[in-house]
Amino acid sequence: RLKEGRALIQDVWSIFAAVNLPADCINLGQGYMNFAPPKWVTDSAEEALKTVAPNHYSHPRGRIRLREALKAHYGPQLNRDLDVESEILVTSGANEGQYSVFTAFLEQGDEVIMFEPFFDQYLPSVTFNSGKPVYVPLHPPADSIKKPTSDDWTINIDELRRAVTPRTKMIIVNTPHNPVGKVFTKAELVAIAEIAEEFNLLVMSDEVYDCLTFDGKEHFRIATLPGMWDRTVTVGSAGKSFAATGWRVGWLIGPKSIIQPTLAATTRIVFCTNSPLQEATAAGLEQADKHQFFETQRAEYLERRSILCEAFDKLGLKYTLPEGSYFVLLDVSKIEIPDEYTFPETVSGRGRDFRVAWWMAYEIGVSSIPVSEFYCDEHAHIGEAYARFAFCKDNDTLRKAAERLLGLA
Ligand code: GLN
Repeated sequence: RLKEGRALIQDVWSIFAAVNLPADCINLGQGYMNFAPPKWVTDSAEEALKTVAPNHYSHPRGRIRLREALKAHYGPQLNRDLDVESEILVTSGANEGQYSVFTAFLEQGDEVIMFEPFFDQYLPSVTFNSGKPVYVPLHPPADSIKKPTSDDWTINIDELRRAVTPRTKMIIVNTPHNPVGKVFTKAELVAIAEIAEEFNLLVMSDEVYDCLTFDGKEHFRIATLPGMWDRTVTVGSAGKSFAATGWRVGWLIGPKSIIQPTLAATTRIVFCTNSPLQEATAAGLEQADKHQFFETQRAEYLERRSILCEAFDKLGLKYTLPEGSYFVLLDVSKIEIPDEYTFPETVSGRGRDFRVAWWMAYEIGVSSIPVSEFYCDEHAHIGEAYARFAFCKDNDTLRKAAERLLGLA
């Protein structure tokens, strides 16, 4: 199975990893921060390392302190008294959690619908588990829109309905969306939920950027819609919430009917998630309110977003203003690269966006992620118009990047 599709092609994160780029290139590619998690969170990590129990295996469900903290955090938002024994599962990053859901539920040929562009990992995670990805477009903003926002990327519910077949098992929803930054509206989620109900589908709701919404956009959880709890698994991440992407701590929240089989899968894949950082994540959730952490973080990200977007405004380049997540899609179709420029094989064999992103990394000194990777091969040409810039970096770095980007003029 690994021979199929793009499984053996180097993934975009490895191609655009900092080690392959010039040493002084400013890395706005892979979405990770160049600042530390909050001190009161890392202090808890240190404390956990000095304590015997959290240096050892945790229960495969996750350490009880973290499950209790997740219950307290999510319970009110989901209007549920969550059962820490059967409705919460800690996973080794959101990614492993999602993989385990596929392992638990997909049978040969089961179809999984995802909106395209999609976070690239979904595709191999589905195919490695014998599933078949089915794509429904998130339509790019019309050309006539001069200053598009992520809201201008739209879904057509009839297209979703037409994508459903007797083999459809699941729909993946990703809000706030990577790479578009779209925060799905309640109306959109209601329409998706109606289809899930009508055709008896599971919903995997990847909400890892839930704490990052802007411009008055409210994150809405599809699991809270009538009838949806029983068919939805909500995915979260410590990496995004607490600037700790390397910790690989994520979680799944959902009904026992989804969590129990997924627990069986995750137990056999990783057995359990690293214990000390589960303690620290628990501390993060427990103390977030006291530190007004999520409000402050959101304001900081808003400023980061504007530093980057102001540079694009000055250049007169079109981009999608994201109302969620920490990514900006820049339209790179008008950026010209010299014909004679040479690229490594990993880049030259891919879409134009790979070449533009590589050239910008080497010649402008700012890296990004080519967006065709977030499309299936057949639709990759749509993504070739964009490069994704991550703004999860400190202000000084973003200002420096903005200055360099002005060199595109
Ligand atoms: N979620 C991160 C991003 O989109 C990184 C994902 C990864 O490295 N697999 O940048």
